[in-house]
Amino acid sequence: MLSNIPPFRMVGNLYFVGEHRASSHMIDTGDGLILIDVGYEETADIVIESLEILGYRVEDVKYILLSHGHYDHSDGVPKIVARSGAKVFMFREDNKYLKGFTPDVYFKDGDVIKLGNTEILVLHTPGHTEGVASFFFNVEENGQTLRAAMFGGAGTNQLRKAWMNKYNCAYRLRNDFFHSLDRLRKEHVDVFVGNHVGQNKTEQKRELSLTQSENPFIDPTEWGKFLDKCERSLWKAIEKDRREAFVTYAHRGASEYCPENTFVSFYQGVAMGANGIETDVRRTKDGVLVLFHDEDLTRVCEEEGRIKDYTLEELQQFTVKKNGLCDKIVTLEDFLQHFAWRNLTFAIELKDPNVEKDTADLLRKYDMVKKTVVTSFKFDYIKAFKEYAPEFRVGRLIKASDITDQTIADLRSIGADEICPSAQGLTAEQVKNWHYEGFNVRAWGLTQENMKSAYDAGIDGTTANFPDLLLDYIKQCTPEEA
Ligand SMILES: [Zn+2]
Repeated sequence: MLSNIPPFRMVGNLYFVGEHRASSHMIDTGDGLILIDVGYEETADIVIESLEILGYRVEDVKYILLSHGHYDHSDGVPKIVARSGAKVFMFREDNKYLKGFTPDVYFKDGDVIKLGNTEILVLHTPGHTEGVASFFFNVEENGQTLRAAMFGGAGTNQLRKAWMNKYNCAYRLRNDFFHSLDRLRKEHVDVFVGNHVGQNKTEQKRELSLTQSENPFIDPTEWGKFLDKCERSLWKAIEKDRREAFVTYAHRGASEYCPENTFVSFYQGVAMGANGIETDVRRTKDGVLVLFHDEDLTRVCEEEGRIKDYTLEELQQFTVKKNGLCDKIVTLEDFLQHFAWRNLTFAIELKDPNVEKDTADLLRKYDMVKKTVVTSFKFDYIKAFKEYAPEFRVGRLIKASDITDQTIADLRSIGADEICPSAQGLTAEQVKNWHYEGFNVRAWGLTQENMKSAYDAGIDGTTANFPDLLLDYIKQCTPEEA
């Protein structure tokens, strides 16, 4: 089996031994070989053969350093370890991605890995995954000492919402990515080493090196340019997500037109094209979770008393009214039976204290983890929920003007993924800041007056009593496909 890129010496004692889909590099330290990334299981043979072509033996590989845990960099490990007995290094955070082996050594940020004539500085630069490692080391060429470096996780497709939802990654990884770029920019790098060949144009430079005397891999401007490109790429991904995965939540259903938080209202919202439903959870006197916004019945049922003063059976005697329509109060479980299977996103607002466990249990029962955000105006409620059910995303409802650095720090401390500011007065600058912080931004309190400005500010979703009007506006803003 031969790679379509022949192995070659890049600079000094650094060699390319990978293939076109995933790079592998080898450093000849004079006292054994170090491999950085080893490709797929089926391409490990290419790495082994490449070493042989260059006159080395796989048996002399002493260390394997993994840039991160994705299969295209790590799956070849068992094959190479079987031949060499090499020690495998990686950040512990990426263990969840590995198949068929565990690393021998877990990196710590700032570690220096030494072997023979080589010292490799390892920085923890998460974003692409939780445990991305970036490597810095010196190479000598023509009596010159040059700094070589690899950014171990530059791809931003893994920071798209669909991917993060599928693999249950925290949206905070976006903020980690921005921070990692800032940190990497501080380093001076003469030789940029890619972990995919497209990053540093490995193939083209190899071709060039055959015909020109200067080494094309030495270019002190390339590192900074590449990091800038990565940053632009993440902003583009965030903008794409907003356009392609914007969530219009029917707020308590299509509550502008129908009795709020009832089946007629939820179905109307979906019929209007909403791709999400927002609703509220409270507890009855006999402990059942029902979907009801207000503490008391007066506004929507025209009855005296509070939800918690009645049993479910008693509440079923009442109806919720709007525009001449009426419908019954719905239990959370009944709602989930009818809607959980649908391809929708759900925002579940906790309205009572101590409903978090029962709510989480029901959401688990109906397999709602990947399509639900649990929210509250009360920080303590989402904190308690997240402690009990850490696998769910949570968000904080708050007036936009009340959001401070402390709000962000509090949300970060519980691992929240979403911030839910009021639509009123929202600015594009605020939304951009929260995106930079790694939050999904979902608005509430949308009116026909503030709808356009809130959408234009760059939010990722919003509740709307009138999903039809919002969707009309979004359609106006979206250029027709050519
Ligand atoms: Zn990857």
